[in-house]
Amino acid sequence: MANQTVDIVKDSLRALMDDKSFLPELKGERRKKASISLLSILSTPNHVNKSYLRVTLENGQVVRIPAFRVQHNNILGPYKGGIRFHESVKEEEVVNLASLMTLKNALHEVPFGGGKGGVVINPRDYSEKDLYRICKKYVQYFSDILGPDKDVPAPDVGTGEREMDWMMGEYKSIRPGESYRGSFTGKSVANGGSLGRREATGKGVYYTFRYLMHDFVQDQEKWLSERENMFAKTALALKEKSLSIAVQGFGNVGSVAALAAYQCNHLNNKVVAVSDRNVTLHNSDGLDIPGLVKYISANKGDLPLTEEQLEKADVNAKILNREDVLTLDVDVLFLAALENQVHQENMKEVQASIIVEGANAPVTSEADAYLSDKGVIIIPDILANAGGVIVSYLEWLQGRETQFYKEDEVFEKLYRKMKGTFDSVLPQFFGDPFPLRQNCYIHAVMKLSEILYRQGKLY
Ligand code: GLU
Repeated sequence: MANQTVDIVKDSLRALMDDKSFLPELKGERRKKASISLLSILSTPNHVNKSYLRVTLENGQVVRIPAFRVQHNNILGPYKGGIRFHESVKEEEVVNLASLMTLKNALHEVPFGGGKGGVVINPRDYSEKDLYRICKKYVQYFSDILGPDKDVPAPDVGTGEREMDWMMGEYKSIRPGESYRGSFTGKSVANGGSLGRREATGKGVYYTFRYLMHDFVQDQEKWLSERENMFAKTALALKEKSLSIAVQGFGNVGSVAALAAYQCNHLNNKVVAVSDRNVTLHNSDGLDIPGLVKYISANKGDLPLTEEQLEKADVNAKILNREDVLTLDVDVLFLAALENQVHQENMKEVQASIIVEGANAPVTSEADAYLSDKGVIIIPDILANAGGVIVSYLEWLQGRETQFYKEDEVFEKLYRKMKGTFDSVLPQFFGDPFPLRQNCYIHAVMKLSEILYRQGKLY
């Protein structure tokens, strides 16, 4: 677990020590000891599995590729979390991401534990056949620890339906006769995936923003106006405005969140900037998001980055540097790229009043403290980007029941789940001095502690 995550868990436990509903059966020394046990359980992964995949590439070269599967905690159910293909993957990072999955699932009451995988490659450097071989090898190396009731991977940065389909295919060949449908989620619909899974994380990011800034703030206007806190001030100041949105990252999460914001035009929001690994595109009158989505699907996922390409896409925008997206004069920032994007060096230039964390850990702890003190509302990762794993759970269930939910049904269930979680953390947000991230952690830790206690694991 990264120091940042451990610190928030520590603070949560400290806050919970004064809360009567936290381990109510335990008093005095016993309570203190239980809290120390909890910290050590939550700050250490159960297993860190590491291998070097030996792969023969299409060109005949044999390579050794570092690969991980971290199983953080399975107290709530099978380990669950994506497999990331990225050149910057490191063991410590995968451990932290796995621990965030434990907290995310606990917060949303999804009956899974936390896991995460990683393969140290830039997928753009490999042919399709090479990627297929890498996926197969990953499953061969880790097949003993994976399975529908043990550990269920899903897509993450650099992976998608194609990789999950290949991996499930390999799992099925290695374990003939065993149930395999729930062994991977995020598969293509034709191969047992769920309708809506591909869009789920991006939709969920947009849902949390929409719920907070429209449904909740509209409903609670009177109540908010009687409050003195920073959140109420920021929320009420934005209430009457048509909000301008900038989106960092235009992959599976960012592009879907941007499109959802664009399509919800009755709310009068405008997506004025989007970025990817190369470029930021900006238009203060609003960007043609469907045009950009069409462009990236025909151009290997990259946004147009020259005037010529913009013309080809028929999109009207100014071309800026890729980091500029973070510091534009906008009301809302969706962070849907990688971790540590807003940090000590750039936090003072951030102008947005609301940040939604579509990626995992995109704001460092220094930046989080600085921006929260200024009254910026940050909807944290474990709350905002859980759409993927929530619909993964629906996919896993559909696989077990051999049922098929309609797309509307999936989005309806997703919205209700995210709204339910938001409602459970919001009242506390106003009642005490903790920011939203802290409240989400408190909620998750409370849930985990109760189950650990009942299962006799805190003795
Ligand atoms: N990779 C996604 C996440 O970080 C989805 C995980 C899943 O569906 O298991 O939440």
